[in-house]
Amino acid sequence: MSDQPKGKGQTIEEKQYLIRFKADTNSHLHVLDYDICATKCPDKICTIFCPAEVYKWEEIRMHVGYEGCHECGSCRIGCPHQNIKWEYPKGGHGIIFRLG
Ligand code: SF4
Ligand code: SF4
Repeated sequence: MSDQPKGKGQTIEEKQYLIRFKADTNSHLHVLDYDICATKCPDKICTIFCPAEVYKWEEIRMHVGYEGCHECGSCRIGCPHQNIKWEYPKGGHGIIFRLG
C-alpha cells in the first residue's frame, strides 16, 4: 500500500478514475442556433473554455458530447452569443464524484 496521501502524486488518468458519468439519453446542453456557430463565431471559444472538451468543431458543425460534461456551468456565460442553453442533468444523471 502506498504511504502517499490520496490524490498526491497521482497521474491524470488516476485522478480521472475518481470521476464517473451516468449519462442521460437526452442532452442537457443545447446549441440554440448552429448557424451562429458556423457564421458568426470564428473563435469558437466554447471549444477552448470547456474543461471537458464537450464542444468540438467538426469542419462545418458543432458536435456536443454532453455525456462528458463536468457541470461547471461555464458555457452558460462563456458563449459570446448566448447560444448555449444549459440545464442541470435530470436527477440521478450526470457526473458522479468519488472520494479518492
Ligand atoms: S462559443 Fe457559442 S456561438 Fe461560438 S461556437 Fe461555441 S456555442 Fe457556437
Ligand atoms: S457546463 Fe462546463 S463542462 Fe459542461 S459543457 Fe459547459 S463548460 Fe463544458
